[in-house]
Amino acid sequence: MDLNRFNIVVIGAGALGGAVLSKLIQAGPASIKIVDGDVVTAKNSVNQPLFTKKDADGFVNKADAIVSKFSSTSSVRLVSEPFYVGEERIDSVIEGVDIVIDTTDNNETRLVINDACVRKRIPLAIASVRANNGLLYIVDGNNACFNCIYRNGKKVDSSGCASVTAQRAQTVGVKAVDAVVNFLMYRTECPFTNVNADTGSTLETYIKKDSNCETCQKHIHLDRAGGGFIQICGEGIKFSLQKKIDLKRIAVAFPSAVYMQDGRLLRMDSGSRSVLISDEGDFLFSGYDIEGAKTFISSVLS
Ligand SMILES: [Zn+2]
Repeated sequence: MDLNRFNIVVIGAGALGGAVLSKLIQAGPASIKIVDGDVVTAKNSVNQPLFTKKDADGFVNKADAIVSKFSSTSSVRLVSEPFYVGEERIDSVIEGVDIVIDTTDNNETRLVINDACVRKRIPLAIASVRANNGLLYIVDGNNACFNCIYRNGKKVDSSGCASVTAQRAQTVGVKAVDAVVNFLMYRTECPFTNVNADTGSTLETYIKKDSNCETCQKHIHLDRAGGGFIQICGEGIKFSLQKKIDLKRIAVAFPSAVYMQDGRLLRMDSGSRSVLISDEGDFLFSGYDIEGAKTFISSVLS
C-alpha cells in the first residue's frame, strides 16, 4: 500500500475513531488530522485501548492523547484539532484533504460535515457503530449524499451516544479503513454497508441521489450564521461556541475555578455538578440538565 500521498481528516476520536486511527496510522498516509473536543474519562481509559488512566486523571483531550501516543513512533504527520466541529469550523478543518472520515455519533454533526464535503467536493467516509450494528458508507459525488439518505428516514444509529465495546469498534474500524484505502488507491466504490459488528458479515445497498436533496441537488446549504450547538451525550451535555474563548475572563467571575492542562482548560465544581471549559470554546457539563447548562452558558457569556 502506498498511501503516502494522501492527507486525511478523522472527525471523532471515541471508541470507533480510535479503532480507525490505529489501523489508519499503520497504513501510512502523509498526514492525519484528528478532531475531537472531548476529554478522556475514566470509563474511556478502561474501554478504549488508546487511552490510559493518566489521560483520564489529567483531563487530556482525546485528539491530543492519540497524537502524543503515536507521534514518536509513526512517520505519519499527526495533527490534533482539540475542539468540536460545527458549521463555523468545518471548512478550515477539511481544507485541502483527500478524504474526510466521520466517526462522530450524532446526525446533526454528520449533516454539517456532509454539507461541507459536498460543497467542497471532498469524499466523505461515514462510519458508525451502535450495539452490534455497524455502518460504512463513502459519499463520493456520484452516489447519495448523507442528506439524501437522512431526508428519506435513515437516521443512522445515533439515538444517543451509547458506548461501544472495543471489539465491535475494532471490527467496524478495520473495515472502514479498508474501504477508505481501496477508495483512495483504486476509486473502489463503498456502497451503504450494514456491518454486523459481532460476526463481521455485511449487507450492501446502492443508494442513488435523491433529486430533491437540498444539499447535493438543490445546493441549499446550511445556515452558516450558526454559532453553537448543544448535544446530550452518555456522559453529559456538550456545548460548542465554535470559536476560541478567553478563560481568564471567566476565571475572574468564578474564584473557585481551577486551571488544568497548562491553562487550556478551566474546571468548576459545585457539589455533584461540574463544568469543564476549553480555550477552544467547548463546554462539558456533568450533573446539569439542559436548562441549567443554558443558564450557565449565558451567565458566562454575558
Ligand atoms: Zn444529497
